[in-house]
Amino acid sequence: MANSVSANDAPARIHWHRTATPAPVCDSLTGELTADFIVIGGGLTGTRTALGLAEEGASVVLLEAREIGYGASGRSGGQCNPIWRKTPDELSTLLGADVAARLVETTLGSADALFEDIARYGIECDAEQNGWVQAAHSGHARQTMSALAEAWIAAGADIRVLEGAQVQAATGSSAYDFALLHAKGGFVQPLSLTRGFARAALGFGAQLYESSPVRGIVRDGAGWRVSTDQGAVTAPQVILTTNGYTDDLWPGLRQTFYPMVSISLATAPLSDNLQKTVLPGAVTISDSRRAIYYARYDRDRRLIFGCIGSTETAATLGGVARLRRGLRRVFPQLGETPVEASWGGKIAVTPKMMPHLHEPAPGVLAGLGFSGRGIAMTSVMGRSLVRKALGAAEDTLPFAVSAMERVPLHWAATKLAPLAAPAASLRDRMDELLDKG
Ligand SMILES: Cc1cc2nc3c(=O)[nH]c(=O)nc-3n(C[C@H](O)[C@H](O)[C@H](O)COP(=O)(O)OP(=O)(O)OC[C@H]3O[C@@H](n4cnc5c(N)ncnc54)[C@H](O)[C@@H]3O)c2cc1C
Repeated sequence: MANSVSANDAPARIHWHRTATPAPVCDSLTGELTADFIVIGGGLTGTRTALGLAEEGASVVLLEAREIGYGASGRSGGQCNPIWRKTPDELSTLLGADVAARLVETTLGSADALFEDIARYGIECDAEQNGWVQAAHSGHARQTMSALAEAWIAAGADIRVLEGAQVQAATGSSAYDFALLHAKGGFVQPLSLTRGFARAALGFGAQLYESSPVRGIVRDGAGWRVSTDQGAVTAPQVILTTNGYTDDLWPGLRQTFYPMVSISLATAPLSDNLQKTVLPGAVTISDSRRAIYYARYDRDRRLIFGCIGSTETAATLGGVARLRRGLRRVFPQLGETPVEASWGGKIAVTPKMMPHLHEPAPGVLAGLGFSGRGIAMTSVMGRSLVRKALGAAEDTLPFAVSAMERVPLHWAATKLAPLAAPAASLRDRMDELLDKG
């Protein structure tokens, strides 16, 4: 039956499938439909966009190539890290003062907005808002992070600077002696959140189709005709939310970002004693390494630990070994705690590490390029896509509508992407050795 809820048989290697709420089971598209909007991609961005449009009374068809949450959204670390890597002043230089002012304001409220959405739509996704520790792994990172904190605190962010023993008390790790505690940070079960948005969208009448890869988008009078293997949908507007899983459907879109991979492992549940010394208080942590170590608990107090990787199979080019080394480096007290699962997923990294909102043709929008910061920002993007699609003026949105531009050396970067993770790890290690003098 279309759009009902049932258990699901998703990939066993991705830990989140073991603890997720049941999947909404959706038919694949057959036959011809018409709608006000077509959303392509069933991750956090697509489901949040479909939800927002349906809630406004529009008729929405969402088409997902595989299953809801198949992409990064069902594989994510699920950490809500609610600021950018740039200061508000740097954003102003990059985007212009007006856009930056709207983006900074939206960003400051983005974590609360996500947790409010979760409560408002009654989404069960093991959400906890206990704070995010952003830790510096080197002297240089400490300086950058210090400047970042000063600028964001001045803009109104709730950030506390931690030094020395304070960092160890907050994280249980002696690998860092400088960090920022972002009180608004937290974590979610990312697959359950995506399914929750999907279920809420269904509740408002959106039609969601799985196993329906979109093969073509062509002009149809004043609107667009979007075709899958066994069906087609016609609508005045199409919204692409395919992020790191973007294919060649819309020419040039895949070339607007660098394809990267993030990988994670899940340990066995930690004992009560270990929980007192590893991320006490269930804060999340991510650090300043090029390879970006990040960690958090799941609902059963397994530790989820991640870094950048080479392919969706976490073990490629020593990925799992690097994860285990990172885990030992940050939390040596874990000793031989067993690892239950490891997996990876694709992310879309833009040259400035900021998401893009494109309008490549009249009636076509695309929101992507979260650069590894998608948990809160996909919702910000989803709401922005809804407002833009419903006619809001561009100068009221937190993202500028930018022209699609091919990133420099895209072809070479795509070919070399799997090597980025081992190379980044090596450079991080050199930073640490240089720091030690
Ligand atoms: C391992 C990992 C850890 C991460 N950790 C964090 C974290 O801790 N915090 C954080 O903020 N961010 C994190 N991220 C990033 C974050 O998860 C992503 O930014 C976010 O999930 C992107 O959501 P999305 O909906 O835009 O894209 P996705 O979830 O990737 O969804 C895109 C969807 O489009 C579909 N699709 C593609 N082409 C077609 C087509 N032709 N037709 C139909 N459907 C199509 C795909 O099947 C896919 O389901 C992590 C990512 C990974 C992989």
